Amino acid sequence: MKAGAKIYYTSRWARIRWLALRRDGFACVRCGARGRLEVDHVESIRRAPERAYDLGNLQSLCQSCHSQKTNEEMGRAPSLVQIAWKTAVAELARPQMEGTKQCLRV
Ligand SMILES: [Zn+2]
Repeated sequence: MKAGAKIYYTSRWARIRWLALRRDGFACVRCGARGRLEVDHVESIRRAPERAYDLGNLQSLCQSCHSQKTNEEMGRAPSLVQIAWKTAVAELARPQMEGTKQCLRV
C-alpha cells in the first residue's frame, strides 16, 4: 500500500487537486502535455505528510512524467550501466534464440 494513499479519497484532496491543475494551466509542468494529468506531491507524502494538502507542494504531471519522477524517487530509473548491460545481454542472447530456448529476464 502506498503511503498516504488514503488522502486521494478525500474531498479535500479533490479540491486542492483541482486548484493545482488550474494553477498549472491544465498542462504537465515538465513537458507541457495536456490531457490526462496527475497531481503529484513534489515532496512525497511519506516524506512530508504535513504538506499533503499544500498547494505549493503540488504539481501537475502527465502520466509519463509522473511515472518517471516516481522511478527517480524509487531509484529505479535505469542507469547507463544497466542499459549497457541489457544491450550486452540482448546481443549475447540473439544467436542462441533459434536453438535453445532460453528465458532471459533481466
Ligand atoms: Zn509530462
